[in-house]
Amino acid sequence: MRAAAVPAGYPQFFAGGEGARVRDVDGRSYIDFMCSWGPIILGHRHAEVEAAARAQLDAGDCLDGPTEHAVVLAEKLVATILHADWALFQKNGSDAMTTCVTLARAGTGRRKVLVARGAYHGAVPWCSPSLIGVTAEDRAHLLHFTYNDISSLDAAVAEAGEDLAAIVVSAFRHDLGVRQELPTRAFAQAARAHCDRLNAALVLDDVRAGFRLNLGGSWENVGVRPDLAGYSKAIANGWPLAAVTGNARFRAAGEQVFVTGSFWYGGAPMAAAVKVIEILERENGPARLEAAGKRFAEGVTGSAARHGFEVSLSGPPAIPLMQFNDDPDVRLGEALCREALARGVYLHNKHNMFLSLAHTDSVIDEALDAIDKAFAALARNRTAVA
Ligand code: PMP
Repeated sequence: MRAAAVPAGYPQFFAGGEGARVRDVDGRSYIDFMCSWGPIILGHRHAEVEAAARAQLDAGDCLDGPTEHAVVLAEKLVATILHADWALFQKNGSDAMTTCVTLARAGTGRRKVLVARGAYHGAVPWCSPSLIGVTAEDRAHLLHFTYNDISSLDAAVAEAGEDLAAIVVSAFRHDLGVRQELPTRAFAQAARAHCDRLNAALVLDDVRAGFRLNLGGSWENVGVRPDLAGYSKAIANGWPLAAVTGNARFRAAGEQVFVTGSFWYGGAPMAAAVKVIEILERENGPARLEAAGKRFAEGVTGSAARHGFEVSLSGPPAIPLMQFNDDPDVRLGEALCREALARGVYLHNKHNMFLSLAHTDSVIDEALDAIDKAFAALARNRTAVA
């Protein structure tokens, strides 16, 4: 991450985190609505998760192969994620999504992969949003469609013809700086039907949304199951881990492909992940995150209106994108975030934010109080900002 890319006023380096709060190296504390850009789903340093990870750390994390947590976690994922018959582990979302593409090609013997324009699937040449250091050959078999646009999907499928290996979809449309969209049921079903008809793989990128929207898989909300799915971010509440889950059709491919990494089998993150899923089940995680997100959204839009602004939050309440309705150069958005930071609340105005179970009603209300003061300050300086 380039520290220089963060707008002025944002802290660049952090010293610690606890619950819903992070602390920067200058000793300032913020109520955190980025949750480490997704990994923190229970709150920073959740005691039960840290204890589970610590027990394996104390016994040894990086050994000559996986620990028993790999088996326990794979069984837990298969029991929880409804399309899953097996799981493989990696470290980052980019690893998981690249592995999904490799598995789709291995399982189908084909080359073409369809992705939505503007979707983010990772920081590797086949899908990076930047073309710097990327060759045309790295993207040779990539075709594009528009998210939620069935006719553009149909056209891309037709172009791939008999060489279609996979359609890769995000859990919902969360392109940077663009109003977020949930998938329509018709779009999800169209993607599923193409893959069924052509024996291709439907690949769900659940790296960002996984476990926040539905423990069974984010597209359970639209009644569609993928063949392969990539997970990372929230899976271990901040411990480094990613997973690919697959159905029986892709099991043989999963057994045959060569995918590995020196640090992929560390036991502590897997012990953490088992505990994370247990807690999310026990606490009814997705429903609580949605309720927290709704409280946050109502508070922010209400505050905005009181001070003469129109702000909308788009996408699922647990992963909201906050935008001013008339702010093409995002100056208002950045100014609001700066005012909120100065009052101890860490927001983002171009990337979606994330709620965690540590965002209790009282924490959200404390943040909303500060955000209301931030809007008031923005209203006072409105002519200076606009
Ligand atoms: N897919 C999605 C939807 C993501 O949000 C991200 C991370 N922002 C990735 C893939 C890549 O994950 P990582 O940064 O862990 O490689």
